[in-house]
Amino acid sequence: MTIQWFPGHMAKARREVTEQLKLVDIVFELIDARLPLSSRNPMIDEVIHQKPRLLILNKMDLADETETARWIRHFEEQGVRAVAINSFEGKGLQTVTKAAKEILAPKLERMRKRGIRPGAIRAMIVGIPNVGKSTLINRLARKNIAKTGDKPGVTKAQQWIKFGKELELLDTPGILWPKFEDQEVGYKLALTGAIKDTIVNMEDLAVFGLRFLEAHYPNRLAERYGLTTIDDDILSIFNHIGELRKVYATGGEIDYDKVAELIVRDIRNEQLGKLTFDFVSE
Ligand code: GDP
Repeated sequence: MTIQWFPGHMAKARREVTEQLKLVDIVFELIDARLPLSSRNPMIDEVIHQKPRLLILNKMDLADETETARWIRHFEEQGVRAVAINSFEGKGLQTVTKAAKEILAPKLERMRKRGIRPGAIRAMIVGIPNVGKSTLINRLARKNIAKTGDKPGVTKAQQWIKFGKELELLDTPGILWPKFEDQEVGYKLALTGAIKDTIVNMEDLAVFGLRFLEAHYPNRLAERYGLTTIDDDILSIFNHIGELRKVYATGGEIDYDKVAELIVRDIRNEQLGKLTFDFVSE
């Protein structure tokens, strides 16, 4: 799904999330574990406001494990509870319920003290496109086909997916816009497939990818392409990779467009291993 974000769409998206927020106890902010900064909506704090929040780093199977652990520590140091999951394979889902319960424990305790028996925790998922919101909802729904149906007082037919006895999840996620003012963020989103190839120049994207690898994962760059540095002579770098991987056009010369595509594909398909594109120190 590609969404063109215009001011009107952004305002509408924000309004919808704000409405849905009234129905839930907690927000699950879903982000891409490879991009713990770049895959967050720029206004998320303002949108969620005071609502309790759990940050979920999805696609942990694709991210650098060491960096994911660092990020989780970093968020927790800032007072934001965070967990890592792989919603594609359904890994780590229990940590979501557990963390949600812990975050809401003081509130539930207050209710109990006042003689109110708390029901299931109600949650909704919020995130930018492609972070895996539908995958997570489907994953939870598959295990828990029984939906609880509409709740009184809810005008729109909102469906709740029951996850065990303790959690109910709104079946429509809140979709917010990505950061797009920053070119580097755009490249990172494109390298992870979060935004369409058509809106970035493939060669620029490939060069960005190579330079990123040189700076952060030099061993992988050496292993895959036999390169130790990415100097300014990009043509010779492309020639080198083109020859190594035999990327020739019909006339026998190197096909640079294809070399660029190959580099981007390699990065996306884990040919350079599990990668994280944002670092805590940044
Ligand atoms: P949404 O736009 O946020 O609803 O994102 P989707 O649920 O449509 O997921 C976008 C892409 O990411 C799809 O191709 C999913 O298969 C993939 N995806 C979602 N979660 C995971 C995950 O945990 N690991 C991996 N490897 N891929 C995932």
